[in-house]
Amino acid sequence: MGLIRILQLALIGLLIWFGVRAIKRWMKNKSQAQIRSGKRTSSGEVMDVMVQDPQCGTYLPKHESVRAWAKGEERFFCSKACRDAYLAGKEPDEKSEAN
Ligand SMILES: [Zn+2]
Repeated sequence: MGLIRILQLALIGLLIWFGVRAIKRWMKNKSQAQIRSGKRTSSGEVMDVMVQDPQCGTYLPKHESVRAWAKGEERFFCSKACRDAYLAGKEPDEKSEAN
């Protein structure tokens, strides 16, 4: 009876050990994947570049902007409405009220 008990405990211990090992390996793979993807985003050149909308003066990330070419220069806008207004040659509404 004593021997069976010991074998049972040993078997349970072995199963737990294998389980922990599998989880540890899985966690390691997961964290490595996270590090890899993190490196990719931090080395991305476009991520943190801020550009100013010449129409309304808003600063926004370059990758979120609406791009357009005006007078030989590439411009970045916060929205298509701003881009269209700028290309149409309209002055911003706020400019007449301020100053
Ligand atoms: Zn705008």
